[in-house]
Amino acid sequence: MIVKSLKPPQTVRKLKALLNRLPLTHPKRFKIEVDHGSFYSGYLGEKSLLYFLRSFSYRKDLYIFHNVRLIQYGYTFEIDLLIISTKNIILIEIKNTQGKLSLRRNQFSREKMKETLEIEVFKEPVLQVKSQKKDFISWMQRLNIPYPSNIDHFVVLTHKTAFIEPASDNKEIFEYVFRSENLPFKLEESLKKPYHKEISKFQLKNLSNKIMENQSESNWDVLKNYNVHPSELKKGIRCPGCSMVPMIRIKSKWLCRRCKYKSMYPLEQSLEDYALLVGNTITTERFAEFMLIESLDRAYRYLSKLGLEKTNAKKNRKYSLNRYIVK
Ligand SMILES: [Zn+2]
Repeated sequence: MIVKSLKPPQTVRKLKALLNRLPLTHPKRFKIEVDHGSFYSGYLGEKSLLYFLRSFSYRKDLYIFHNVRLIQYGYTFEIDLLIISTKNIILIEIKNTQGKLSLRRNQFSREKMKETLEIEVFKEPVLQVKSQKKDFISWMQRLNIPYPSNIDHFVVLTHKTAFIEPASDNKEIFEYVFRSENLPFKLEESLKKPYHKEISKFQLKNLSNKIMENQSESNWDVLKNYNVHPSELKKGIRCPGCSMVPMIRIKSKWLCRRCKYKSMYPLEQSLEDYALLVGNTITTERFAEFMLIESLDRAYRYLSKLGLEKTNAKKNRKYSLNRYIVK
């Protein structure tokens, strides 16, 4: 069963929010578009794997977690896909890199399929998943959580054009790295291995609860990362139909001049942009300023209608935007 389902990662949502709000001529735009494309492609790779996991997702003896984020030694480590049972733990690193991949002298690289023989170098994925395994084991030990003895790790290549160059000098790679369609067979094989130590169903449930309770939220500051000042963002209400900023107010409604979308309160998408880019609380003044609402009274009325959690008394009241961050 799926305990933690796959969702669009916050990195992708933050980059998208930034692209929604960055002027088309902004000098950083190209770099941000490239980064968004690469993170989004990683997410699509993980999504495509759900098809190959389908028969395992229904098994009650298997607990499946997507994008596990835990802290050990003061640092966050992430596991793309984690499967646990009373007898096994399986960690899977998912790569959506395309084309011919090679591993020589511990360097994982890809030849670009172009006339120029450009070579891209990546983090060595087997080493990456091995280090996650090490971190996960010490995390369970630190929390005194009993765990089964069979612990496997794999790297799955999800892109349809990806393959490993046969001449790769590290033969270990063929045992641990394979394409999506092999995943069901590799999982079956791994789950059937003889084991030395198993845990009880109660202990399995406990391990699962501890993993969920200890999820570390990403607090990646996307504006800081690209050195973009909040004043560089386009202000105004973003059209829920076509994403144009700003919508204009005509009589009691907001109108998009591009796609003609009309609404009384088209605020959700814009509040999500604010929450992902600027911060998880907002005051009436900041709200009015970000949404280009001239009247503070109107801004206050809009905010009150949304039923957001409030902090402080009436003066300096802050509204929580957490519901737009955690989805
Ligand atoms: Zn529109």
